[in-house]
Amino acid sequence: MKKKKFAVIGGGWSGLYALKYLLEENLDTQLYERESNLGGVWFYKETPGGVYQSTHTTSSKTYLHASDFPLPDDTPHFPKHDQILAYLNSYRDKDLRLFFNTFFSTSTIIYGNLTCQTWKNFSYINVTKYQECLSWGSNGGFWAVEGLRHTAHKNLLNSTSLIIEVGGNRGHDTVKFIELYNASIISYEPLVPMWKDLTKQFKSNPKIEIHPYGLGNHARSLLIEPHDFGNAGTSIFRKLGAKNSSTIQKIQLLDIIQVIRHIRKTRTKNGIIDMISINCEGCEFEILPALILNQMIQYFRIIQFATHTGLVSESSCIYCQIEQALERTHKILYHYRKLWEGWVLKTTTAN
Ligand SMILES: Cc1cc2nc3c(=O)[nH]c(=O)nc-3n(C[C@H](O)[C@H](O)[C@H](O)COP(=O)(O)OP(=O)(O)OC[C@H]3O[C@@H](n4cnc5c(N)ncnc54)[C@H](O)[C@@H]3O)c2cc1C
Repeated sequence: MKKKKFAVIGGGWSGLYALKYLLEENLDTQLYERESNLGGVWFYKETPGGVYQSTHTTSSKTYLHASDFPLPDDTPHFPKHDQILAYLNSYRDKDLRLFFNTFFSTSTIIYGNLTCQTWKNFSYINVTKYQECLSWGSNGGFWAVEGLRHTAHKNLLNSTSLIIEVGGNRGHDTVKFIELYNASIISYEPLVPMWKDLTKQFKSNPKIEIHPYGLGNHARSLLIEPHDFGNAGTSIFRKLGAKNSSTIQKIQLLDIIQVIRHIRKTRTKNGIIDMISINCEGCEFEILPALILNQMIQYFRIIQFATHTGLVSESSCIYCQIEQALERTHKILYHYRKLWEGWVLKTTTAN
């Protein structure tokens, strides 16, 4: 039987708790909120419809909080509206399942794509450069200096750095980043057997977190068929081969924008993530455009990525737009076009 899906409409107090209890029953549920923020009436805005600027609750804090999450000790007996709003937001943020299943009208789904047509919308695109780029082949010189993707940033990363890895694979890059920088690493690997291996491999290192998800420009689950490299190669863009193949697996993708918002909020002091390292057989063509179009690309001090042109239609057009968009915020650290490249933020403005 097809598994049922549930939607909660509205991210006020009631909606948030409804989402929590439905997820607790393991029901596949997502919450949709028309505003850009949780909180319902507690989300103060100039326009009528919510609390006044001076509103305090009429119920005492003893009765207001959820049984599994008390209000902070220093909250006054009758909290002000912004304290309730902060409480509701932290209630969601503390639970990843609540976080990842909440969607706002400002979510990224419609804004996450570049195509061969979109470059015309961007005044910063230099047409001559763009056309030149379309004719580039991939620069195979990279393979002589493959280790660059580990060492190119050696003066920029250290043990206080935070690295996000998209495509944990067999942990080869994770090992190198730990060896060289002893940085904190959040790694995403959607193939569950490989995620299990990685979890085992790095279980004694508290600085490494491995999550059984891929990242895309919107959240979804899909079927995927591992191929070369002893079934360690996957792409969300590769067509499935024989039906009912025993190697086909279901994977879960998270919305990159939601994930990055969460990491910036909970894991960084100034909103800047030290590095994102992307090696995911094509998902770079979803997540880089999503970060660029949602103006979040400038939150990464270093961006490095592998390009897999063969798997994605229109990949050259998208790649060439990514290049010019990156030039606005970052400068090149190393550049083996259409294979591997690294970029570093021009200015580290905090946010
Ligand atoms: C001034 C004031 C003081 C209050 N004080 C207290 C108090 O002290 N104690 C107490 O228990 N209660 C108090 N309340 C009652 C308060 O309404 C509830 O506590 C609670 O916040 C209601 O939550 P809710 O989720 O039901 O509704 P709301 O907070 O109204 O949330 C509804 C949400 O649904 C969203 N939405 C609506 N339509 C759509 C749509 N079509 N698609 C997507 N999203 C949609 C809205 O944007 C909103 O975020 C007070 C209310 C007010 C106005």
